[in-house]
Parts: sequence; C-alpha cells; structure tokens
Amino acid sequence: MAQFEPLIIRVAVPSPLRRTFDYLIPENLGLTLTESSVQPGCRVMVPFGKREVTGLIIELGNNSEFALEKLKPVSQLIDARPLLPEPLFKLFIWAANYYQHPIGDALFSTLPVLLRTGALPPPQGQHCWQLTTHGKGLGADSLKQARRQRALVELLQDQGPAVAEDLILQTFSRAIVKQLEQKQLIEATFVSLPSSPTSNMLKQDHLPLYPSQQAAMDQIDHHGFSSYLLDGVTGSGKTEIYLQSIEKILRYDRQALVLIPEISLTPQTEKRFRDRFNVPMVTLHSGLSDRQRLDAWMQAKTGQAKIVMGTRSAIFTPLKAPGLIILDEEHDQSYKQQEGFRYSARDLAVIRAHQENIPIILGSATPSLESLNNCDNQRYKHLVLNTRAGSAVQPDWRIVDLKAERIESGIAPSTMAAIGTALNNKQQALVFLNRRGFAPAMLCHQCGWSAECNQCDSRLTVHRARHRLICHHCDYQQRIPYQCPSCQSQQLIPVGEGTERSEAFLQQSFPNSKVIRVDRDSTRRKGAMQEVFDTVNSGEPCILVGTQMLAKGHHFANVSLVAVLDADSGLFSPDFRGHERMGQLLTQVAGRSGRGEIRGQVLIQTHQPEHPLLELLMTQGYGNFARQLLSQRQLSQLPPFRHMALIRAESNRADQAESFLRLARQLAEQVCVPSPNLAYLGPLPAMMEKRAGRFRYVLQIDAEQRASLQHLISQLGPQLENHRDSRRLRWSIDIDPQEL
Ligand code: ADP
Ligand code: ZN
Ligand code: ZN
Repeated sequence: MAQFEPLIIRVAVPSPLRRTFDYLIPENLGLTLTESSVQPGCRVMVPFGKREVTGLIIELGNNSEFALEKLKPVSQLIDARPLLPEPLFKLFIWAANYYQHPIGDALFSTLPVLLRTGALPPPQGQHCWQLTTHGKGLGADSLKQARRQRALVELLQDQGPAVAEDLILQTFSRAIVKQLEQKQLIEATFVSLPSSPTSNMLKQDHLPLYPSQQAAMDQIDHHGFSSYLLDGVTGSGKTEIYLQSIEKILRYDRQALVLIPEISLTPQTEKRFRDRFNVPMVTLHSGLSDRQRLDAWMQAKTGQAKIVMGTRSAIFTPLKAPGLIILDEEHDQSYKQQEGFRYSARDLAVIRAHQENIPIILGSATPSLESLNNCDNQRYKHLVLNTRAGSAVQPDWRIVDLKAERIESGIAPSTMAAIGTALNNKQQALVFLNRRGFAPAMLCHQCGWSAECNQCDSRLTVHRARHRLICHHCDYQQRIPYQCPSCQSQQLIPVGEGTERSEAFLQQSFPNSKVIRVDRDSTRRKGAMQEVFDTVNSGEPCILVGTQMLAKGHHFANVSLVAVLDADSGLFSPDFRGHERMGQLLTQVAGRSGRGEIRGQVLIQTHQPEHPLLELLMTQGYGNFARQLLSQRQLSQLPPFRHMALIRAESNRADQAESFLRLARQLAEQVCVPSPNLAYLGPLPAMMEKRAGRFRYVLQIDAEQRASLQHLISQLGPQLENHRDSRRLRWSIDIDPQEL
C-alpha cells in the first residue's frame, strides 16, 4: 500500500468564496504528520491576502493545483484536537455542499464569536482556587498579621479546592484572594463538575401517560436513527412525550438537543424542562454574551450539559454523547435562515440525527406539508395525538361574515358582543391581527395621494403613538405630515387597521378592562413580554390584541375567545405556501383558547364565508385541510413533489440584476437543458421588486429529482462565482426556498 504523505492542508477561511485554500505544513513546528494537531477540524492561523486569519482544516492532501513553491505555510496551529466532533464536522461539509454555500462562511458564521478569532476554548470545569505546595506546607504561625488570608488558607487546607465564585461572592473578598495568589500560596485551577447521579435526575416525577400518549411513546425506539413526526393538537401532551423521551436517554447518560422556534416568546417551555430535570441544562439564544455562549457551547461539547436547548443555530452545537434530537413546532418558518447561509435547521436536524445514529422527534399541531409527505413515503413515522390532555376540549369555530355587518375599526359588532360576553364571564379574549402599527396606509382625502416609501414598492405604515410613518421593509421613517405634500390639504386619513388601532378602539369600547397589545413594537423593551405573561397568568379578565407573536405555543388557561380579524389576507397570498401558512396560523391562534376547563370559541372574520378551504379547515380540522393542499400540490407539481432552488440577485440598477440572472440561466442550460425533469422559470421580478433601494429578481429552477437539481447547482454555483459580473451585485442561492 502506498504511503499517504500529506504535504498540503486545505483550509476553510471566513470568505465568500466557494472553496478551500491550500497551505503547506510548516516544518519549523517540529511536528510529525501523525501528530494529532494536523487533523481535519482543527483551527489554524494562516496568511490570507494581507491579513492573518483563523481557518479550519478541512482535509489533508498531497497535491495542489498550484505550484508548491507558491504556497505559504500555516503560521500557527491553534487546536491540539479537532474543535468539532466528527459527525458535526461532516454535517457542515454536507450542508455547505447541499446549500451551495461557502464552507468557510458556513463554519465561521455559526461558531461562537470567541472561537472565530482563534481564542482557545476555556478550560473545562469550574474555576477553583487550591493551595500551592508552598501553601499546603504553611506553618500554623504564619500570616498572623493577616487574619482573613489565614482563614482562607485554613479553609482550603480543610476542604481542598473551592469554587472561585462561591469563595468570592460569599466569604472572602477578591482582594484577599489576590494577595494570597501574589504570595504564591494559592493558585487557580479547574475542577470538573461531578456528573449528577442518575438516581435523582428527576426533580418532578413524570406524569402517567394517557393511552394516546402511551401508544405514541411505545412506537419510539430510543436506540439508533429513526425520525418521528409527533402530530398532536395544541395541548394534546406532546411536551410530556418530549420530557419522557429525554428521561429515557438520560438514563443511558446521553444528551438531548432540543430546538424551539423562539425562546423569549415561550419562557414556559424552557421552565417546564428545568422544572422536570435535575441535570445541567444550557440554553442558547440571542440574548447571551459572547462569553456565556462559548461557555454553554463548551458545556455541550464536553458532555457536562445534559440538555441543550436553543433556537435555529443551536443545531450546530457539538455534543459529546448525543442521544436524541427534539424539534418543536417543526412547521415554524424561523427554522429556515433567510439570509447568508440559508439552511433549514429542521432538515439539517434530520441529517444530523442520521449521522449521529440517534432518534429525532419533530413535533407540531400543524405539521408542514413536507413532513406529512415524508410520513407518506415512510421516511418519518407518523405519531398522532388526537385529543387534548385532561379535560380541555377542542374549541368551537364560527365564521363572522364581514359582508353582512357594519364594521368599525375592523371589528364586527357580533365580534364585539362576544368579547363583551367573555369579559362578563371573567374570562380573557385574544384578538389576532397580523399587522402592526396603527394603519397600513395614509391617504389624502382631497387628491388621493398616498404615503409611499421611496426605497421600496410599498406604502408607509402609520404609527400614531410615535407620530411616525414607517416602512416595514427598510425601516425608513419620517414624521407624520400635517398636510398633503401634493395638494396641501390637511385631510390626511389613516386607512385600514393595524394592532395599534384595534387596541385603541377596544380600549375605548371596554374602558373598564385592561387591553394589552403584543407585537414587535410593544415588546421591544426587555421584560415587556414577561409582564404580559404575568397579567395573563393572573387570570384577570382582559383583552389581548396582537400579531403572530400571540400564536406561538403559549399556554393561556383563561382565554376563552379568540377573534381573527382578517382571515382574507391569508386566502389571497400570491405564494404557493400561502394557504398552508394560513391554516397553520389560524389553527395555532385558535389553539390558545380553551386550554383550561372552559370550551373555547374561535371567531373568524372574513369576506369569503363560503371559501372551500376555510370551510374545510373549520369543519374538518388542520389534518384534512393539509391532505387536501397536499393533493393540490401534487397535481400542480409543486414542492414537496418537486425540488426547488432560487437564484436571487439584487442591485441598485434594475437591469443589472435581471441580466445577471439571464446569464445564470444561459450557463445553467449549458449544464442541463430544460426538460420536464428540470425546468427554469424567469428571471422574474421578486414579489416586491424594489426594496431598500435595490431591484430584486429571481430565477426559479425546479426538478423532479433532487439529485439532478443538486448536480446542476453544484456546477452553476462556482461558475457564477467566477464570472466577473457576479462581483457587481448581490446574489445568492436558496435551496428549498420557503419564501418566493
Ligand atoms: P402540547 O405540548 O401538545 O401543547 P402539553 O404537553 O403542554 O401539550 O400538555 C397540555 C397540558 O396537559 C399541560 O398542562 C400538561 O401538563 C398536561 N398533561 C400532558 N400530559 C399529561 C398526562 N399524561 N397527565 C396529566 N396531565 C398531562
Ligand atoms: Zn392631497
Ligand atoms: Zn422601504
């Protein structure tokens, strides 16, 4: 067998280029090649242009397309062992290929910030102080003049190493510790945490499962890879199944990775996990400091943290002994990153579970059509929970025909009456409108002028409390004008409804009840969401009015009425996923009602009371509604029955984006001629053609076989990247796009 003697290290660096860079293995480091530090997955410092950057070794090679004397040596090896465990490292490589995204950017945009700069991971374990040899031998009559220092030495002599934070926070000041360190009597050390014994890992006992839960649980094999779709209405007890599955794998001393859409919106979920288990748990979310994020990441990597909870990017957390992945609300759009590295955390979670050879549970009350289809073709096992846990029953849905009523501020009199009844019965009402601000447009009553954004194809939204007109697409802002800029008339009227207007109208109509608005504007302040939960959980009668922030997994026991003010916007979306999204959103909002003892009521305001899809959703529930949509998708050959990719381009010159995509199409057709198996559409203007001053175009490619699409894109990506026109504008590849 020929001896493989690597000469070259192929390194991924943070760069937008779809390639790795070759470096020589430095001789002066005195390393033999068998030494562990030159391994894929280790970080290195390398010269890159005029700078030194941190890179990650992707592979070793013994040849290069460049002359060896032109290559530069690696300047420094940072890690002695791979930073990422092998299955995770492979996941990155897989994802960079699949999403046709530069591997360096994929890696470095998801690593904790402190590791991107080459800092060493902190020593593992707890920061402690212990006596030096000198300190251990300190005679009884030393330090007579320094009683506090003496006391600390004695404490360490009696007890052994002590946790730094406890020492400083509870007993000794930082100064005392410092003085002893300067005298070289004590030194810092790291002591690994004793892993918690498995006997008392439960803080609370698990609940005895209901028969439907038990049936689902019995089908889950906790050893080896398999994917499950846990399809259960809101409140049917999915979380209890997650908890009991985690308990099972904790007993084999494995770790669980739990992904949820948004942590700050649903602190209750995190709390339920913490309340149940007596094991170390970390949560990764956007509110962490760089240091906290690195610490959590290290605790996951070293196996100290047994439960790792996080949002989308937590799918890239290293785990020492993974045993289970749970992904809650699997239909949620937040799992797809919509810029840069456009990965789907849900799809990667399934790939990762496969690579780690562990089970994955995807849960939802409103599963995506992709996942339902994966059940149909036997890729996932479909576990169904049909009834609500305990006494809570499914809410009762009714249509409010807007054509038949005199609407004021977007709310029909019969809806108002139902809200009044709920309040009289000492219950809470939730009013849903997926549009923030006071009104989505402002018009001149005299001449018809309307306030538009100069940078986007869109109207400015009136925010009355802030006296501003704001573009929701580029965040352009201006004061609300006193008169029409076109005819100087002062009759400027806000048209249409946003949450701010509904709030004002409801407060005026129910002056004795609390009206709480929940949207991105009202919850910007830290702790604002917690105040909302506190009020709602106190049970006092109130009206909640808000956007989809209210639809997310909350448990509001005393909400008995949900009113959806505008179902029509969902019926007429131009996106082929519009109906699916509408069904999910309405079902999720409806799921907030009647979770306690009372039967909830859901009112749907619409101008289309006979719309067949709305009727199907209301009378037969999301499951049948989704089946119907799925067969329509099959008939019209749309995802998940075809595989789609978009090439997007945007430029401040309208013709530039379009002509770049025309070029992309020509290049693509040279690789793959159009056929029923692989079709091109476009270039077309994006749904909002002008946004933030840029003109946006898309080229859609769809294929019957995923493999043919992958083949094409993997050739097209580098070709486009190398084309000189690509440097003049922004462009990107979006595989399995979620938004058109
Ligand atoms: P989901 O996650 O599907 O919305 P949950 O797991 O939150 O449902 O369950 C809804 C409610 O029912 C919770 O208050 C939960 O504590 C309770 N519950 C779930 N399973 C059981 C059970 N087996 N026994 C008693 N209560 C249960
Ligand atoms: Zn005017
Ligand atoms: Zn704008």
